[in-house]
Amino acid sequence: MASTRTNLTTLFVVALTAVSGVIGLMSWTVRSASIYRDIARYADTEADLATSLILDAGEGVQAVVIGPDTAAESLSITPRLGAMLNAFPNYLVVTDRNGTPLFQSAAVRRLSGSDSTLLADQLVNLPVNGPAGLLGLDSLDERVLLVARAVSRSPTPLGKVIVGVPTNDATTLPREYWYAFFFLIPLIGFAGWGAWQMLGVNAERIARITHDVAAISDGRSLHRRLSIENAGLEFEQLVATLNAMIERLETSFLGLRRFTADASHELKTPLAVLRADVERAMSEPSQNERLVALEEALHETTRMADLVESLLTLARADEGRFDIHREPIELKPLVEDVYETALILGEAAGVAVNLPFTADVTVMGDRTRLRQLFLNLITNAIKYTPAGGKVDIGLGLHPENVTFAVRDTGIGIAAADVPYIFERFWRADRVRSRMSERGGFGLGLAISQWIAQAHGGTLTASSRLGRGSLFTVTLPLPAQAPKT
Ligand code: ADP
Repeated sequence: MASTRTNLTTLFVVALTAVSGVIGLMSWTVRSASIYRDIARYADTEADLATSLILDAGEGVQAVVIGPDTAAESLSITPRLGAMLNAFPNYLVVTDRNGTPLFQSAAVRRLSGSDSTLLADQLVNLPVNGPAGLLGLDSLDERVLLVARAVSRSPTPLGKVIVGVPTNDATTLPREYWYAFFFLIPLIGFAGWGAWQMLGVNAERIARITHDVAAISDGRSLHRRLSIENAGLEFEQLVATLNAMIERLETSFLGLRRFTADASHELKTPLAVLRADVERAMSEPSQNERLVALEEALHETTRMADLVESLLTLARADEGRFDIHREPIELKPLVEDVYETALILGEAAGVAVNLPFTADVTVMGDRTRLRQLFLNLITNAIKYTPAGGKVDIGLGLHPENVTFAVRDTGIGIAAADVPYIFERFWRADRVRSRMSERGGFGLGLAISQWIAQAHGGTLTASSRLGRGSLFTVTLPLPAQAPKT
């Protein structure tokens, strides 16, 4: 496969040659037309001159008695007029009224038999004072432009004066064209060479970018960036776009690595606990102690199952493989149901849970996922609110959307941490959180945010450390919900 450089250079040279050819042809056509005009004018002038010479020379034509016993007379040109007409360089014929030639210039007399016949036809047929005619003379390989004049005012009965001028000048390629042609060939060659060099510079830049991108995209050099200087706007834009893409790749690679590391780490701890519990159960002589160890092992297994379930949810969400089954959902009963659960959880934690307001509202959504979203927020609120605190739940209907809000009077989140709470595996205090009974995996809010977004909505948080937090889910009204 030919390179782009070769293709473009070939195209350029061919186009340049074609354009030069077309320009040459046009100039040649214009030049020919102008020469034809000049020749026609020249022929007219010669014909007029010959006519006026004949008319001025009163005695120019004389009658000749052909035989002694006949009255028939023939016409002929006087030697003096003949000498003057002989001075005409081109084809000149003077005829009588019948078209019989009375005078033929030297050029006409030199014509071969067939060309003479052709000319004789023209003598009869060529209209007087009419448009010029073209006669091709085979023996001389030239075309002659003919014009005819009537010698009308002549005292003697003459017919026509016909003048023919060769048109070789208009039909042969002049020397200048050959010079231009030989000058153009190296010029086009030089232009082609220039194009080849310029494209070579660009090809080199593209090859360098390709090489650099290949070196960066091996996965270990994503921190590197491409650089190009003084290479023109297009190359700089290309490099900037590629750099932006590499940056995004680097971010997602880092995220992926962190995610894998976090997930392995989260699984490692319960697995170690599980192993210790099983070992303890196996070596423990007392039945009671063995049951305690097994119960703890069961607890860790449930925790691990939860973690794997959450990871699976997020992985499928990332792939876009998670089907959200949309159907009209009445939110009020759903929120009241979640509230019932919250009351039980709150009671166990010594936190008062209230549902001060709800609204009759229907949204298009997935009941299971919405329930999971609301419960995540409520359990977090109860989990991060010390005993004696308060959690308020509210469902509001607005002109543009529906909101579900959970406000607590809990420990709150530091302002600097708020931007990270939706990141996977993020927890305000990792160590304490894992060890304490609050221990979550830091995946709940990431899943909650995905559920809200999958419904065409948002999940936002505002919080003050030590004062409490407010999490708000905004869902579109059915008419605005995106179709799936
Ligand atoms: P976890 O399972 O750890 O609760 P989440 O993704 O649900 O994971 O929450 C991430 C982190 O956000 C929590 O570890 C906690 O630090 C913080 N957080 C979430 N909800 C609240 C809240 N209502 N009050 C204070 N902190 C919260």
